[in-house]
Amino acid sequence: MLQTIRTESRGFAAGPLGTCRADWLRARRHRAKSFSPPAAPAKVIRWLANMIVAVHPLAGFDKVLHYRAPEKLCAGIAVGSLVRVPVVNRFTLAVVSQLDPTPDCPVEKLKNVAELVYPFPALTPELLSLARWIAAYYAAPLDTVIEAMIPVSVRKGLALKIEKRLAVARELSVEELETLNRRAPQQAKLYAFLKLQLHPVAKSLALERLKVGPSSAAALVQHGVLREIDHRIERVGYGDDLGSAEPVAVIPPELNLAQKAAVESIRASGAKGGFAVHLLQGVTGSGKTEVYLHAIADMLQGGGGAVYLVPEVALTPQTVARLRGRLEQQLGQRVVVWHSSLSEGERLDGWLALASGQARIVVGARSAVFAPVRDLRLVIVDEEHEPAYKQDETPRYHGRDVAVYRAKLAGAVCVLGSATPSVESVNNMRRGRYLHDVLPTRIDDRKLPRMHIVDMRHEIVAKRATSVLSRLLIDKLHDRFEKKEQSILFINRRGYSSSLLCQECGYVAECPHCSVSLTYHRADETLKCHLCGEVRPAPLVCPQCHSPKIRMRGLGTQKVEEHVARILPRAKVVRIDTDTMGKKNRFREILGEFRTGKIDVLVGTQMIAKGLDFPNVTLVGLVDADISMHVPDFRANERTFQLLVQVAGRAGRGDLAGEVVVQTFTPQAEAIQFAKQSDFDGFIEGEIKLREQFRYPPFRHLVHHVFRGDNAEKVLWVAEQWKKRVEPLLAGAAELRGPSPSPIERVQNEYRFQLWYFTGSVVKVVGVLAKEQREFPWPEGVSQTLDVDPMSLS
Ligand SMILES: [Zn+2]
Ligand SMILES: [Zn+2]
Repeated sequence: MLQTIRTESRGFAAGPLGTCRADWLRARRHRAKSFSPPAAPAKVIRWLANMIVAVHPLAGFDKVLHYRAPEKLCAGIAVGSLVRVPVVNRFTLAVVSQLDPTPDCPVEKLKNVAELVYPFPALTPELLSLARWIAAYYAAPLDTVIEAMIPVSVRKGLALKIEKRLAVARELSVEELETLNRRAPQQAKLYAFLKLQLHPVAKSLALERLKVGPSSAAALVQHGVLREIDHRIERVGYGDDLGSAEPVAVIPPELNLAQKAAVESIRASGAKGGFAVHLLQGVTGSGKTEVYLHAIADMLQGGGGAVYLVPEVALTPQTVARLRGRLEQQLGQRVVVWHSSLSEGERLDGWLALASGQARIVVGARSAVFAPVRDLRLVIVDEEHEPAYKQDETPRYHGRDVAVYRAKLAGAVCVLGSATPSVESVNNMRRGRYLHDVLPTRIDDRKLPRMHIVDMRHEIVAKRATSVLSRLLIDKLHDRFEKKEQSILFINRRGYSSSLLCQECGYVAECPHCSVSLTYHRADETLKCHLCGEVRPAPLVCPQCHSPKIRMRGLGTQKVEEHVARILPRAKVVRIDTDTMGKKNRFREILGEFRTGKIDVLVGTQMIAKGLDFPNVTLVGLVDADISMHVPDFRANERTFQLLVQVAGRAGRGDLAGEVVVQTFTPQAEAIQFAKQSDFDGFIEGEIKLREQFRYPPFRHLVHHVFRGDNAEKVLWVAEQWKKRVEPLLAGAAELRGPSPSPIERVQNEYRFQLWYFTGSVVKVVGVLAKEQREFPWPEGVSQTLDVDPMSLS
């Protein structure tokens, strides 16, 4: 029996076809013992020996196969069950997609299902429908979608963690004990110890405490004096990322009127039953999390389950701590936390807790949208505008859009929260598809910070040199340091700084057809539009003011850190960038030191802006607002506006008022002007008009097709041949643009060209493309991928 434990400590147990079949079976038995599976609905209980099932194998091919379910498995098999089936000459995992289909061959030729992996379905019918929709919409093979839904540890059948415990099975008489004492004093010692215990004791603990060997215990078990009990231990872990996410019990604050109205509005949708989407728009610091917590508590009372998505769990330990404090400590409801740095064991046990109905709430990043929560009644997507919700490998789904669709399938309420909702969501709200709840002010009537826009063109003229920090920002940094208040400087690192910007007049080269900035290609000194393919020579001087200072300049966090250290030699300046983010403990340490006031100025990229909540921060500087504005993407303005609002939102969260300094070469840009006024409606009005004019999303969908290979001419030729083939098939359904080089033409020695499909009907276009992809004579050395509703145009 010790074998199981050893396998445990290695992490993985091999499947039934591996070397540890005995372990696997043992684990399976424990599993069956530890759960009371939800009662199977009457219609799935079959008494016929020959039930036929259709399954999707998870084996790298996209096909439905038919099997016969042997009598002993019939009662347990349902749609969504995870089973093991023979395919050719091996066994593979598969998900049951249909009961009693019409088989594709005579019944007697069908093979048997070999094993039912869990006594409850791995996917609910709702998740299975969701998988089919994702496959059809995002042009992904169904098996890759199902694999994304079921964690590796679940699919591989990772063993449960079993602890051996010992208890007395038969009491010894005085004579027996004396004999034992004489012949085997070690055994007698163990027996005497266990006899005094009220509950079974962990074997390892008892043996270690008494310094008794395992053979003594084995002998007593063999003679029926002791019995060994398997006790399942749940690995409830929160991974490395959430070391500071211990539950924090706080007395729920009194809700303000706007929060109350939002909670009521969500409650009303919940009471009505059925699908509804609420767009919860609240300025930074307005207490959206509190609204979510109330909505979750309401829904729990009704007996339902909830999914709570955040863009990046590692950056929101405070939210997780609050959620656990409220739901675990005050309501006694376990919260399953779902993110990438969980161990496989923790992931398995979290998944099982949800699938078996023991836990009803999951909080996590993108993939938590697939968590097997039963009776789903509420789906929350916090910071719904975040591009991090889009997965950048197959299946390339958008977590927010999938969340909305899942809520629809489940008949649940979906809450999309943001200070700066996406154009897509606002458009849905305006068309009456989403309800709108607004939190217009910060909690406790705290003021939104005041935003100063610094025109860097003047700074350069005044100082006769390129400067990193403006005079205003330097003055304010001095001022905060004197007052013992804290500052954060953000460097904008979104995308690539590949556009041309005139540092004298703020001119930026744009494509006349597509309203995106042109990309500078250094190799042949050209400007190219990567949407339509427009090419022109790169100017040596600014076409507007004839200045030679026409270049995009990117700044590193290190350079900014050095500048600040020179300006404030006595201050403690620390930088957070991708290097420090890689070392999780260091990142946590820095945030801890910043919170306790040991750090005066924090320098970092905007990726850290999301969750930060430090009451003593009264100054926030955005060093280079232009970078995100002039990436060649029709969402560039939206991203810049969101960035400015989010960054500003980090200032003045405590009792002290905050100030924001934004440095830019294009201060007249709308995104900057509207952010300065905190005028979301004004900004979105113009942005929606522009999108409508150019027929960009949400007025049409975009499908991005990338062709890659090490021979540029060949890749381009293939892309052109492909276009010739599909363009007539898509006539009337999609407008094609390209092929054009990607903004970053060459990645890891591969050349990339892209085609764009603008369409009103994704499913129709994807259907045609997927079929043609299978039939097109793809040459060696060229690969291609489709991305539906891409969030980045590179
Ligand atoms: Zn110029
Ligand atoms: Zn263009």
